[in-house]
Amino acid sequence: MNSVIILAGGEGKRLNSQIPKQFIKIDHRRIIDFSINEFKKNKNVDEIILVFPKKFIDSFGKEYKDYKLTHGGKERNHSTQNGLLLCSYKSENVLIHDAARPLISQKLIDDSINLLSKYDAVAPYVDIDDSLIELDTKIKYLDRSKIKSIQTPQSFKKKIFEKVILKSKKGYTDDMSALINHNQNFNVKFFKGNKLNFKITTDIDLHNFKNILKNEK
Ligand code: C5P
Repeated sequence: MNSVIILAGGEGKRLNSQIPKQFIKIDHRRIIDFSINEFKKNKNVDEIILVFPKKFIDSFGKEYKDYKLTHGGKERNHSTQNGLLLCSYKSENVLIHDAARPLISQKLIDDSINLLSKYDAVAPYVDIDDSLIELDTKIKYLDRSKIKSIQTPQSFKKKIFEKVILKSKKGYTDDMSALINHNQNFNVKFFKGNKLNFKITTDIDLHNFKNILKNEK
């Protein structure tokens, strides 16, 4: 059984909006609805769990009665922990996705689930196009071919992941880093993702997303 946790528990302060970015409506659909629908369409996904910010559970929660719903925490891993506690006991794999990445594809979902038959944890990456520097007392140019940008869904064998994540107290920017920081010996695979699966963080990202939708019409 495969469970999906869609993380929407953040308040998205980097975008100029009254409501968190994942709840902004475009053409009558909230940003989170795009990823919910893509996971719903996939025949290997058995349950979807939503994690909302505590203060928006009452207002937005009533629109999502068909899903298991819980509230997020201060750090991302607290939100993941709450989502994980709602997963069915029958679940073998858990896929964790950012609600702020609406352009998740069927291929990314299929690749994640298929790779979990061989690995403990898998996540998509994309290459970096810009030159990269480390701004320290001395400026250091980094070899961009060796540095990758990590996306979601980040997917795990549930038994292994819950042992680590339910204990983790320190904040992490993604779920895979919580696992790898705990122990480097897990059988982990990073696979080629897709740049369309970008995260809406700033107003420019939101503008780009709207343009992509317009061109699809
Ligand atoms: O803050 P960031 O853009 O990295 O958030 C990525 C995703 O994780 C967003 O969909 C956000 O709602 C979610 N998140 C969460 N709980 C937090 C922080 C972020 O569910 N405490």
